[in-house]
Amino acid sequence: MELTNLSIKQLQEGLLAEKRQFSAIEVAESYLEILHRHENKKKTNEFVGAFITILEDSALAKAKELDKKIERGDKVGSLVGLPLGVKDVFATQGIITTAGSKILENYKPPYSATVVERVESADVIILGKTNCDEFAMGTSGENSAYYSTHNPWDLSRVPGGSSSGSAAAVAAGECLAALGTDTGGSVRQPAAFCGVVGVKPTYGRVSRYGLIAMASSLDQGGVIARSVEDAAYLLQTIAGYDAKDATSVDNKVPDYIGELNKPVKDLVIGIPREFFGEGMEPGVAEAVKQAIAEIEKLGVKIKEVSLPSMPYALAAYYILTPAEVSANLARYDGMRYGESARKDILYETYARTRGQFLGAEAKRRIMLGTYVLSAGYYEAYYQKAKSVQLAIKHDFAKIFEQVDLLVTPTSPTVAFTLGSKVDDPLALYLADINTVPVNIAGLPAISVPCGFAAGLPVGLQLIAKPWAEATMLRLAYAYEQVTEWHNKKPSFKK
Ligand code: GLN
Repeated sequence: MELTNLSIKQLQEGLLAEKRQFSAIEVAESYLEILHRHENKKKTNEFVGAFITILEDSALAKAKELDKKIERGDKVGSLVGLPLGVKDVFATQGIITTAGSKILENYKPPYSATVVERVESADVIILGKTNCDEFAMGTSGENSAYYSTHNPWDLSRVPGGSSSGSAAAVAAGECLAALGTDTGGSVRQPAAFCGVVGVKPTYGRVSRYGLIAMASSLDQGGVIARSVEDAAYLLQTIAGYDAKDATSVDNKVPDYIGELNKPVKDLVIGIPREFFGEGMEPGVAEAVKQAIAEIEKLGVKIKEVSLPSMPYALAAYYILTPAEVSANLARYDGMRYGESARKDILYETYARTRGQFLGAEAKRRIMLGTYVLSAGYYEAYYQKAKSVQLAIKHDFAKIFEQVDLLVTPTSPTVAFTLGSKVDDPLALYLADINTVPVNIAGLPAISVPCGFAAGLPVGLQLIAKPWAEATMLRLAYAYEQVTEWHNKKPSFKK
């Protein structure tokens, strides 16, 4: 039995079967072997660079402890033995949490994020902290202050971002699933580029407590997995109210796994024409067209729709998020957290610390953000972007009176070459064009593999009404049952 090919469900069944088919330690060791192969910088033809910190010792210790518990017949958590990657923006108590930044290179949080606590009590095995763009700002993984992650499908290409390591690690088989965060597409876009499944829940569904903030009003924890079913398992564990996060909402979490098999033929699907515009690669258009045809065969009703405010979404996003980023990153001042370039004069400590330890993109967003919030410009930029946000929310609400779900390409392109856009921030910002409207409106969305263009994976995005994750998972699951895309694996032969 190939232990690293099992789904979460099969893993549970095998571990907990009366006659145990394998042990947690065997599973953990099998994954660690793959992980080491792709994290070894000397093996340039297999180096993925998906992890910043590898937690081998604690992972093996946890696996041993779980095996003992299982042998004794003790109760174990709902994700027992699941080898997991955790994006390095989730605080992990006593374990270095960098957020992909040099300013937190040695930072050990005094507490863990709620999401981390939840997966730990579900008995996952955390294999390490995954690489990401600095403070989750980026679409290519190249803004990590450590090293760029490579796309397992073609190592000369980016894996997408900012949850670059989480998506690449799952695609390369270094872990079974991973946690990511999505402020403007950072779970869905790398999932699309790496040929895996990415779920961004409704804003307020997953606790942000202990999640290092980028743009607090949009940030949301999510999951990256090989299949919709695996994603549903993980989401089930991390979703739900948390009193420690004031924006967490006390809405009942449905049985995501139980709902996967419900019929889909009563659903009405909208195809919003604004998401199929200029800049979309022909190969992406073709794969998405075929996916829509496949979905139609499931018996759902397809309808072309329009969301007129979409052309303004990206501009609004790149005003709203830098504004919040500039406030959130103010705490890295060399006095309280992380690295410090201390000087006798307080102001110099601030300036030198930030100058020395923050990367170019972080500085760019701080400057953009303070600019759009400054007196005289606040009304012209920030408030205007807030009005655009209202228009976008309104557009979605109106469309969702007619349809259950929207289907779009996750990204207009496939993964691009490493280094090809680093000097052109605007080109990188454009990669988010199809994902940011979802965050601006606080909606849930999923990206599922739907084909290949020029040998690289293409992602299909399904967007749902607030709190309707179950509906979106259900259609994605039904689509997965009739297609093979999610079973394809990168070969590392190039
Ligand atoms: N790529 C987007 C950005 O750079 C999204 C980031 C995210 O979702 N964390 O802002």
